[in-house]
Amino acid sequence: MKRLIQDPLPYSYDALEPVISKSIMQLHHDKHEAAYVNKANEAIEKLEKSRAGELEIDVKAIMRDFSFNYNGAVLHKLFWANMRTAKDNNQPDEQLRALIEENFLSVKAFENEFSAAAVGVEGSGWAVLWKDMDNNLSIGQLEKHNLLALNGNIPILVLDVWEHAYYLDYLNDRASYVTKWWQVVNWEDVNKRVWK
Ligand code: MN
Repeated sequence: MKRLIQDPLPYSYDALEPVISKSIMQLHHDKHEAAYVNKANEAIEKLEKSRAGELEIDVKAIMRDFSFNYNGAVLHKLFWANMRTAKDNNQPDEQLRALIEENFLSVKAFENEFSAAAVGVEGSGWAVLWKDMDNNLSIGQLEKHNLLALNGNIPILVLDVWEHAYYLDYLNDRASYVTKWWQVVNWEDVNKRVWK
């Protein structure tokens, strides 16, 4: 497997203010995401050395490390793409709206369920909007980066609710962070992911 490469943010560090501060984005991208990428690459390197007979490894431990860090890296890449500078009347387009209504009754009900999933994650994790192989949508929680995943599904909208994602701005008030986060959702990005 090729090494993962961390991309720069698709916008400036302060682009999501006042919803998410420049300080959080700097730490989150440059330290936290970077660590997941580096650690996933370390696991890949150990597996390569093992294949070449150069290193004895604890396979189970390395695959556990790889799952955690690889999923961490992938989720952050998606999270950055799912956001943009806040703008007025920030809504899914008509096509996505119809699909959301088909799956969740209404956009409001969808947002409420997704927010409740985010607020209710036990410990560190994510709220996720998944699409399955038949383009059915569902909402789920991920604990850490990889537990409770729905196999065969692709995440199309994710919200990081690890403390590192909001504590500097919101302290322990995860619910306020989740409420304000909707302002910076990049619906054009989400819409594109549903149909591709
Ligand atoms: Mn994070």
